[in-house]
Amino acid sequence: MTESVRAACVIGWPIEHSRSPLIHNYWLKRYRIPGAYRAEAVPPHEFREFVQSLAARGYVGANVTVPHKEAALAWSQPDDRARAVGAANTLWLDGVLRSTNTDVEGFLHNLDACAPGWDRNGGTAVVLGAGGAARAVIYGLLERGTRRIVAINRTPRRTQDLRERFGTHVQTAAWAERDRWLTDASLLINATTLGMHGQPDLAIDIGRLPAAAIVADLVYVPLDTPLLRAARARGLRTADGIGMLLHQAVRGFLLWFGKKPEITNELKSLLERDLSASPPRSQE
Ligand code: NAP
Repeated sequence: MTESVRAACVIGWPIEHSRSPLIHNYWLKRYRIPGAYRAEAVPPHEFREFVQSLAARGYVGANVTVPHKEAALAWSQPDDRARAVGAANTLWLDGVLRSTNTDVEGFLHNLDACAPGWDRNGGTAVVLGAGGAARAVIYGLLERGTRRIVAINRTPRRTQDLRERFGTHVQTAAWAERDRWLTDASLLINATTLGMHGQPDLAIDIGRLPAAAIVADLVYVPLDTPLLRAARARGLRTADGIGMLLHQAVRGFLLWFGKKPEITNELKSLLERDLSASPPRSQE
């Protein structure tokens, strides 16, 4: 009897930059699962039809990347995380087409791995940025009981939107005042594109952070961002963007292929090498 081959894909436009095939095909091979994971370039006007015919195309689910994450939310049954973040990045068929946002758990599980106990002491989290990544981070922080979150963004209207979305646990502050807020932060998170390959560096005085603070950078190209280097030089605990990227991929693999995959050092090195050989021109 032949085992049926389950297949999933990542949908984006363009899609060449996506490292999801590298990650999922590594796991398929490692666990000797007779599955397939492919990249699908789908332009925006074809997205709805594509996801509504996933099963007919032979797929049990999909990752969704730029520019389809909001459309993925609209054309599926989202869970609380996807609805709260306002974007979905993982789809699966379960009678209906369901969706979630795995950036939330990618962020949380990476912090759990890099800085165990980070959520035990309360304290203030300073979040830089107000895009989709910042929304996932804030939702995750609130899920874990962070009592005070200071959202800081270059464009103030967008931090105001965050406060309206997430409520009074989220305070807003001006971009020019970011250094001042570090003095009593237990956690600093860069959810902007600053520090990313091809973008300006993030100018911030991390010398003001308390000695027990943790610094997380969502940027994953380069892996070793100037922010993380400066934090490590100060002896602070850090969580990098590649770790988050890998942790966010776990749930999709489990949903589609029935196995919770491990994030091995071999996979992390493979991804690092691939990203440094051909860095993406924009974020995934
Ligand atoms: P986005 O929606 O485009 O948001 C970009 C953010 O960066 C905005 O808050 C923007 O501020 C800010 N920004 C850009 N240029 C700036 C500048 N010169 N000065 C100050 N602020 C600036 O992007 P996103 O999807 O939220 O992603 C943000 C970052 O997270 C990207 O680097 C992405 O690769 C990374 N990310 C990583 C993972 C992972 O798994 N590691 C997952 C998701 C995202 P304005 O609002 O003022 O424009």
